[in-house]
Amino acid sequence: MTHAVLNEIFSSYQGEGAFMGRPQVFVRFQGCSQRCRWCDTQAALPSKRSIFRVEKTPQSMIFEDYPNPVTPQQLNTFLSRFSDRFLSLTGGEPLDQIDFLETWLPTLHPDYEILLETAGTHPHLLERILSHIHIVSMDIKLPSSTGEKSHWEEHRAFLEKSLQKKLYIKCVVTEDTHDDDLFQLSSLIREVRSNIPVYIQPASPTPSFNDSPGQKSLIRQMNLLKKEIPRIFLIPQLHKTMGLL
Ligand code: SF4
Repeated sequence: MTHAVLNEIFSSYQGEGAFMGRPQVFVRFQGCSQRCRWCDTQAALPSKRSIFRVEKTPQSMIFEDYPNPVTPQQLNTFLSRFSDRFLSLTGGEPLDQIDFLETWLPTLHPDYEILLETAGTHPHLLERILSHIHIVSMDIKLPSSTGEKSHWEEHRAFLEKSLQKKLYIKCVVTEDTHDDDLFQLSSLIREVRSNIPVYIQPASPTPSFNDSPGQKSLIRQMNLLKKEIPRIFLIPQLHKTMGLL
């Protein structure tokens, strides 16, 4: 597919991970094959939304609606509204629209720095666009957190492929996160490359999810992880705490 189904394009500050606080332009793709329990983004729903929105002027928070799908050229025209050259490809799951990414990314001006935000479950798709990506922000989906099946083998293959890029990991924990999953996360990091930065994020409550970790659970989970993972960080979601997009 050389057309993309988008959710929104806007400018804001990165709210998670190693580039937290950095101004960015976000291209949010529609559709995601996962169903994490805490996810409240419309973008995770199947990619059938006929309308997406684009911020009228940078950081105005005023949006205009446009019809899906879009061509690479149309997307580049929308991006020309924004002067920032740091782009976050987010979702949903951007890699679910790999044919579009493969066509579109080579058309972007080389000044752009591209950060891919992904659930890290499609290593075979990543390799099709990796040469155009500068930074990989990979989630590790702990099954006891997401309520979904595990993806340990896919995560391992994805991490191994991403090592040639700037790489960091994000991992959401809940009150229900099992120690077994935390041990498995630690072993994976140790085995692939122990100095990968890992950002632990307590799940935020949503209208249908109320299982954010309490203080005691979070401290216990972090104590367990920090013995095993040298570059570990505990951070909230900046955009939610500051009321940003
Ligand atoms: S991977 Fe991301 S977008 Fe998809 S369901 Fe999970 S939190 Fe939502």
